[in-house]
Amino acid sequence: MLDLPAEHAVYQAELDAAWQATVREAAFIQGPAVGQFAAELGAHLGGAHVVPCANGTDALTLALLSLDLPPGTEVIVPAFTYVATLEAAVLLGLRPVLVDVQPDTFNADPAAVRAALTPRTGAVVAVHLFGQCADLEELTAICQAAGVALIEDNAQALGATFTFASGRVAHAGTVGEVGTTSFFPSKNLGCLGDGGALFTRDAARAARLQQLANHGQSQKYLHQRVGLNSRLDTLQAALLRVKLRHLPAAQAARQALAARYDAALAGLPGLCMPVRERRSSHVFHQYTVKIEGEGRRDAVQAHLQAHGIPSAVYYPLPVSTQPAYASLGYRRGQFPVAEQLCREVLSLPVQPMLSAAQQAYVATVLGQACAR
Ligand SMILES: *Cc1c(COP(=O)(O)O)cnc(C)c1O
Repeated sequence: MLDLPAEHAVYQAELDAAWQATVREAAFIQGPAVGQFAAELGAHLGGAHVVPCANGTDALTLALLSLDLPPGTEVIVPAFTYVATLEAAVLLGLRPVLVDVQPDTFNADPAAVRAALTPRTGAVVAVHLFGQCADLEELTAICQAAGVALIEDNAQALGATFTFASGRVAHAGTVGEVGTTSFFPSKNLGCLGDGGALFTRDAARAARLQQLANHGQSQKYLHQRVGLNSRLDTLQAALLRVKLRHLPAAQAARQALAARYDAALAGLPGLCMPVRERRSSHVFHQYTVKIEGEGRRDAVQAHLQAHGIPSAVYYPLPVSTQPAYASLGYRRGQFPVAEQLCREVLSLPVQPMLSAAQQAYVATVLGQACAR
């Protein structure tokens, strides 16, 4: 699904220089590269404040911590997401309230979010799944009217933009009170280990998040709040500075591959291509199709695999039926769209190093599989 060695080989010399300088300078925690990377990523995202942290799950934890929600506060989360979105809330003693998603964009259904609001709701977590924005227009309006915070889990859509009815264009992750992302190696901007960051437009909130990510300390050995040890290593920041410079090219490669899939896969029987949210750009963290029909998705995936083509199912189970979250009391059948997506979605290789010939082979074999 991903050829990181080939991607890195293109700028291996830059990566080598970055880690060698880090080793020589030996400022491994909170070294200068961390702040430099944060400033560069902030500029890339239209001037947002960026607070680096240890991973995307910690970013979600820190975002929720910064809201000071009392235990038991309800946090609305889509049922079709990676488990981390839910995990952070549960570990903080908050109560996740799941909502179903839209069958075409795979993102939270604003009507379901509205219906899930109660006087106990403290936040809504929007997940920009697979690379395009959730309905930020509606979600912002709902959260503002209800007086609850909007958190954006932007682990998959870094660099995507959303155009509001007013004409305002905003980067994913910079619209809500706090945005979060992950630099897990397979993300569109991945480091060479674990990493994450938070985004906000509010300088005071950025300072607070920075404190929370570093043991809640305002100055050395003065702890204002109970925080986390969740810092981005200097080494990862130095490597991310290199990778950020190459992100636009990688992004363009993903988008070109997606456009070619759109043309090659049109009209295949029983296959639904990814639907573009017209107000959002799409950075194609995944190119995810739906294969309709009982058991057909798994048969198509097996056919691809038999022909040496990797593919992946994100996600095979809705978070509502994960054993760890059984105590939330959800039953099978409560999130029909999310549950059907779990049976139908299939993500195809869309990594920047995929050649046109390789992609054409994927399309041909997928065409055979769909015709069977
Ligand atoms: C990857 C991911 C996370 C977690 O990020 P880590 O850095 O692995 O902790 C959270 N939410 C979503 C939607 C993700 O894709």
